[in-house]
This record gives sequence, C-alpha cells and structure tokens, in this order.
Amino acid sequence: MSEDKKKSRWLWPLGITATGLTGAVVVLLRGCWHNKMSWPVSAQGYTYQVCLGCGIKRLFDEKAFRAYGPYRYDLNRLIAWDRGRQQESYQRPA
Ligand SMILES: [Zn+2]
Repeated sequence: MSEDKKKSRWLWPLGITATGLTGAVVVLLRGCWHNKMSWPVSAQGYTYQVCLGCGIKRLFDEKAFRAYGPYRYDLNRLIAWDRGRQQESYQRPA
C-alpha cells in the first residue's frame, strides 16, 4: 500500500463535500427540494400544491396548469401574497 493511495482515499470525499457544500446547506436549511408536489388542492377559493416531503405550499394556476409564486408553509400568507400581486397589477397603467 503506497502513501499516495491512502491520500487519494481521503481527498475524494473531501472534494465532493467542497463542491456540494452550497447545495447541501440549502437542503439542510429547507429540509427538502420540494420536487415532489401533491396534486392541486382547492381551498378558500385558491388552488395550491403541497410538498409531499415537508408540507410547504405553493399556489397553482389551473388555467396554465403550473405552480407560481413563492413557497410558504402558511396558506394565508400565500393568499395575502396573491392579493398583493393582483392589487399591484390593477394600479399599473395598461
Ligand atoms: Zn419540500
């Protein structure tokens, strides 16, 4: 067993840690990537999806059939965000 082989064994996982550190930190902070979303659910006049991994919610546009807006754990905050967004577009001149 040469000294070089021992070194490379240790350097390999270290290299992965360094390159994947930024992503790993995001995963640790958030807990998951929200890449497994439920089917759209309707409540309080809004349609939203729920992350199957952590339970975070996101508004869902039924006409465009895609999710939009920020991720929030509280549906009321999503509704507040959507109402604020609509008011903004009303105030803008066409
Ligand atoms: Zn999630």
